[in-house]
Amino acid sequence: MRLFQKYFCAVAMSLWAVSPGNAQSLVAPTLHIKAEEGSGRVALTLDACGGRTDTRILSALVENKIPATIFVTGIWLKHNAAAVAIMRAHPELFELENHGGRHVPAVDTPQKIYGIRSAGSPEAVLAEVESGAAALAVTGEPAPKWFRGATAEYSPSAIAMIRKLGFKIAGFSINGDGGSLLGAKETARRIAAAKDGDVIIAHINQPTHTAGEGVVQGLRALKAKGLTFVRLDDADGVGDEGTTD
Ligand SMILES: [Zn+2]
Repeated sequence: MRLFQKYFCAVAMSLWAVSPGNAQSLVAPTLHIKAEEGSGRVALTLDACGGRTDTRILSALVENKIPATIFVTGIWLKHNAAAVAIMRAHPELFELENHGGRHVPAVDTPQKIYGIRSAGSPEAVLAEVESGAAALAVTGEPAPKWFRGATAEYSPSAIAMIRKLGFKIAGFSINGDGGSLLGAKETARRIAAAKDGDVIIAHINQPTHTAGEGVVQGLRALKAKGLTFVRLDDADGVGDEGTTD
């Protein structure tokens, strides 16, 4: 009986240690750009988390002269030199910003977000942000001014830390491709629905997913409607949760 009690206690304690009661509640900030007279403008942001490059999207951006802000990680930069060279050859189109060194969520307590383990401590959040900026510096790109963490969810304390480092945090207002897991049709529909002031998020690192096809279709539809595209550096981005002010 005693042994059983001891065992039970140990199990209960270990359950308590990982219970959601210990997890911070996270925020997923939004971002809009200031509205403008005319047929409207939107900001396209594309994440390069890891993996490869979706050349369908990259080629379409170059052919259609669509400017975009690309959030790159240190991991992605290491394995995609050809894509980086294309982006750097078109500085009028591509702005490269900081998506972290190792693609770990900017959450300073240990927890999992969409199955991805968070940075887990203030030091690890700092390391993620700083190593992402350092990886970009090596490419010769201008120093990044925007940060977007893996999963785009943050603990409020991490947001405060990242702002202190001098970065604005890039939320979004339209989830274009659902983490690149949506089909082509739904992705195209979501992106084509963007209105003046919207900030779209999608992915440029999943060449085998059908979502990429939808990104291209959606962007073509927006262009045909007469909307213009701006990069985050060229627009006045207004975010909530203390991400830009
Ligand atoms: Zn990512």
